[in-house]
Amino acid sequence: MLTEFSLIDKFFKKLALKNPETRLGIGDDCALLSIPDGFELAITTDTMVENVHFFADANPKQLGHKLLAVNLSDLAAMGANPLAVTLALTLPKIDENWLREFSDGFLNLAQLYHVDLIGGDTTKGALTLTVQAMGLIPKGKALKRSTAKVGDLIFMTGFLGDAGLGLKIKQGFDSKSQNALARFHAPMPRVEIGLTLRNCANSCIDISDGLASDLGHILKQSHVGATLDFDKLLLSADVKNYIEKTGDDLMPLLAGDDYELCFTVSPEFKNSVPENCTEIGIIESELGLRLKKAKQITTLTTKGYEHFS
Ligand code: ADP
Ligand code: MG
Repeated sequence: MLTEFSLIDKFFKKLALKNPETRLGIGDDCALLSIPDGFELAITTDTMVENVHFFADANPKQLGHKLLAVNLSDLAAMGANPLAVTLALTLPKIDENWLREFSDGFLNLAQLYHVDLIGGDTTKGALTLTVQAMGLIPKGKALKRSTAKVGDLIFMTGFLGDAGLGLKIKQGFDSKSQNALARFHAPMPRVEIGLTLRNCANSCIDISDGLASDLGHILKQSHVGATLDFDKLLLSADVKNYIEKTGDDLMPLLAGDDYELCFTVSPEFKNSVPENCTEIGIIESELGLRLKKAKQITTLTTKGYEHFS
């Protein structure tokens, strides 16, 4: 039977440390990071709980990937370059096959983005997975939620609603979209785009709870409003097919888990926006979030998922 310590050695100490800022990794009471002159350390943490954030039958490799991806997505939304992460695992039992798959999914993505796993905690209890992620940003360059300006154009990366469709499929909607399922189970954080946005965006957020809800955070914190243009949203053929079949045209705006970036840009910086981004609306002084569709304007709720309501 593996002990807590041999488990860490066997599954989580596999990768060599990569970044010069990582002074000490797994094995002591604390890890040590140095912050280069002229940089700030961005820190975020996200927890995933069984039956709340993932299904009990979730594939452990995808779970490891997604746990790290959602944290790297927060760094991306801030314009931070990923540096290091810690991993707190609460496990009901030691299942070596599960741990092998989970750590593969986690460490493969860590390797892709040169993130060092520098520590964590391992305890027994209901399956709960927590990551703290740290990244570097040149001083004063962080992309905040509170700095959108009236007149800014609203952009987002990638497609909207595929992860939401993936969840609908898990809940019984009849579609064979492998893309939607992959987007739900294994999102890719938009790290590179987050870095380029440092030079052109006024504000930024990642779409974890749904575009309406997450853009709503920018609006509230920046004391502004917005109108989104439904016809400009980039929807996959599978999502369009879902809307045709169900009439549920708000799904892409209300469903979460896309992990794309939504950001705002002054019109004069429009040409600096990376190519694979789509303009979807405009920031206005009138508070609230509106949706323009077929020349009709309706008000959208910005209420997202609330754990305690
Ligand atoms: P302590 O008792 O000082 O809290 P632990 O016994 O919890 O230390 O952990 C021993 C070392 O292993 C520490 O460096 C810790 O950061 C690391 N560690 C524990 N669990 C994990 C994990 N799941 N992933 C990575 N590192 C871990
Ligand atoms: Mg500990």
